[in-house]
Amino acid sequence: MNKLEDIVSLCKRRGFIFPGSDIYGGMAGTWDFGPLGVTLKKNLMDAWWKFFVEDRNDMYGIDAAILMNPRTWVASGHTATFADPLVECKECKSRFRADKIADGISESVTTEEFLATHTKCPVCGKENWGPIRKFNMMFSTHVGAVLPDDDQELMSKNIAYLRPETAQGIFTNYKNVVDTFYPNLPFGLAQQGKAFRNEISPRDFILRDRECSQMEIEYFVAPDTWEDNFEKMRTLQHDFLTNICGLHAENIHELEVPAEDRAHYSKRTIDFMFDYPNGKEELMGLAYRTDFDLANIARESGKSMEYRDKITGETFIPHVIEPSIGVERLFLAVLATAYTEEDIDGEKRTILKLPENLSPYKFCVSPLLKNKPELVEKAHEVYDKLKNKYTFVTWDDSGNIGKRYRKQDEIGTPKCVVVDFDTLSDDTVTVRDRDTTKQIRVKISDL
Ligand SMILES: [Zn+2]
Repeated sequence: MNKLEDIVSLCKRRGFIFPGSDIYGGMAGTWDFGPLGVTLKKNLMDAWWKFFVEDRNDMYGIDAAILMNPRTWVASGHTATFADPLVECKECKSRFRADKIADGISESVTTEEFLATHTKCPVCGKENWGPIRKFNMMFSTHVGAVLPDDDQELMSKNIAYLRPETAQGIFTNYKNVVDTFYPNLPFGLAQQGKAFRNEISPRDFILRDRECSQMEIEYFVAPDTWEDNFEKMRTLQHDFLTNICGLHAENIHELEVPAEDRAHYSKRTIDFMFDYPNGKEELMGLAYRTDFDLANIARESGKSMEYRDKITGETFIPHVIEPSIGVERLFLAVLATAYTEEDIDGEKRTILKLPENLSPYKFCVSPLLKNKPELVEKAHEVYDKLKNKYTFVTWDDSGNIGKRYRKQDEIGTPKCVVVDFDTLSDDTVTVRDRDTTKQIRVKISDL
């Protein structure tokens, strides 16, 4: 097994991530977070929120609706351009994203360019392709009382999309926030939430899924200050990824995205690439979106998006720096960094060396033996005390102590606390460290 398979297997075995709708045979491109996964995911999202919103004076939070007026997506350009190149094999009718099955071509590949790569169908091995067609990745639905046999006009009038990004929920609230909070420039609006993309071929575990969680900031700046603010945002992203999430700096690579590959709205984009177990993949993006979005909203809505400088009185549409990160991508980067196998006296030990602030549990408490009532009672006392103080504490009295340690190592619990017979006489416990396996005696009152 390669490392990604090991991680997928651990995620399922220990209750971090299960395949979506597993019981009915699954649902491609969806994943369910189990009890430990949801805690780790929440810890990541909370850490991001604290770092980028709560600890700063220039950030405001937003939580916009997932269903938005479809004019949003006309203004943003998604209706026209949020599409992947779809190609169909005429032999077996399989459909693929052209730029993912052929080397050296981009998302804007033409039929001629694709045919020139002489790619064989990954399913049947033949080379007989239809033309490249643009496939819009937005999920559509109908809002209100619409029946399947209603006429096309009524159907299309009531169409709505599951938002393909959280960003537009921020841009459409820019004016609301300016009119209610009168923030000074530069200021940022941050949002976390679900976004949906109908990927042609979801793959690579949670890296390319159809439903994901995003964490995005739109940082509004005076137009002539964008470069300076871009640099500041860039440094902040590295701080967050390494100091808060525990990623290693040498595994993060900045990729300056060339003009032809940039999203339609961006004048400069840096993709932060990460060394995932199966190769380099995008972890997050930092984009300079100019005034593209606010100017489009002004045009589509007929409302002014201008900002008036409080000192000079000058009015202009702010420009925007956007750091955008997918929670699942970050989740996998954190797991890949933490996942460690060690060989101890010929026996394999699997450890998740998660940073303490992210671990689902901070402590595991157990009695040395579960059939000694006096040990169990004392251990419960210690458990209650720690649970009150640290919240994220688990109890384990299954199997023998060695098995418990191995389980806690696998789910990343930094400290295991064991109550034994000495505890009854001197009120000390054994505290065992996940990374070093070293054990020390600590007074219960010092925990
Ligand atoms: Zn085929």
